[in-house]
Amino acid sequence: METGKLYYEDPKMTRFEAEVISCTPEGALWAIVTDRTAFYPEGGGQPADHGQLGGVPVADVREKDGVIRHLTQAPLPEGARVTGCVDRERRLDHTQQHSGEHVVSGLICARFGCDNVGFHISEDTVTIDFNAFVSREQLWEIEDAANERIRRDLPVRIFWPDAAALEALEYRSKKALSGAVRIVEFPETDRCACCGTHVERTGEIGLIKLLSAEPHRGGTRIEMVCGERALRYVRRITEEAHRAAVALSVKPSQLSAAVLRLKEESRQRQERAAALEKKAAAELALRLTGAGDVLLTAEDLSADGARRLADAVGAVCGGVCGVFAEEAGTLRYVFLQESGSLRALARDLNAAFDGRGGGRDDFVQGSLRADSAQASQRVRAFFPQIRLVKV
Ligand SMILES: [Zn+2]
Repeated sequence: METGKLYYEDPKMTRFEAEVISCTPEGALWAIVTDRTAFYPEGGGQPADHGQLGGVPVADVREKDGVIRHLTQAPLPEGARVTGCVDRERRLDHTQQHSGEHVVSGLICARFGCDNVGFHISEDTVTIDFNAFVSREQLWEIEDAANERIRRDLPVRIFWPDAAALEALEYRSKKALSGAVRIVEFPETDRCACCGTHVERTGEIGLIKLLSAEPHRGGTRIEMVCGERALRYVRRITEEAHRAAVALSVKPSQLSAAVLRLKEESRQRQERAAALEKKAAAELALRLTGAGDVLLTAEDLSADGARRLADAVGAVCGGVCGVFAEEAGTLRYVFLQESGSLRALARDLNAAFDGRGGGRDDFVQGSLRADSAQASQRVRAFFPQIRLVKV
């Protein structure tokens, strides 16, 4: 026997009485079937309702062949009269997202002559996939039209047309349907076959905020939020923008310009630092020409800077050239040598100081958990004559 679907008779019903028809184990949970229910089962892109049935928490709700199973942590006795309580906030949230999706899909499909090919309500946002290209600029045109429909507070009509009426009706549908078809109609906006819960008037959606349009499987994936979610989203982003604007001493509306300016300043500083490091490396190379084995220790040297220093000095010192650069608790190393192999040295340093890295016979680099004094002692075991130079 099919379960009586109270969520179709009264979409706002969150409390109901029912009789337990069956209760059977399903995995680690119990599957409870009642004669009727206000719990919406997962379907049509809309997640299942949560709540309580006979005082037992309902973790999931599924439907198969018209029979609805409430999945619970504990069993209920067959034949018992129980009270069901649907989590009102969760249902309202899903209803707002689902109705918002219909408004946006109706507008986009009409505007671009395309189909909705995917719909998902996740924890944070809603995604809808279309088999057409929609640009970011076109999003705002759709968002304007969608919110205009909300402000007009249009009545939503839900009906089950007979076969002849259905035949004559134009509506969106993802697949060829058989049996009784439920049509959800948003005036001047959308008509679609759908099994989900919907608002009674568009005003209940509150707000539709489109977030992004990204290429997806040859079409476009649109991300959006509706109702309370939209308000929370806008608030969260407003707070983020406020904090960033305070940190940069600009107005929120000037954030992107300020960030681009910062990026450019940072790039210029990096260029200046690299030029200075290069100059210092050249001067040091001049001083250490023909010096033999040398180990340079430096603070605050970038990875590129350490490499540059090793290259410059290693080319002229006539022996092995090593660089230790300390940065934020790790010690970066670079060693160069024209003849012989540096692999054993790298292996030894890595083993002694929880390090990682390696390279070729004539060049090794990596990082260690050590300070330069400890690591220098280890290097001396390989190169007893090595000269230590602080940079
Ligand atoms: Zn739907």
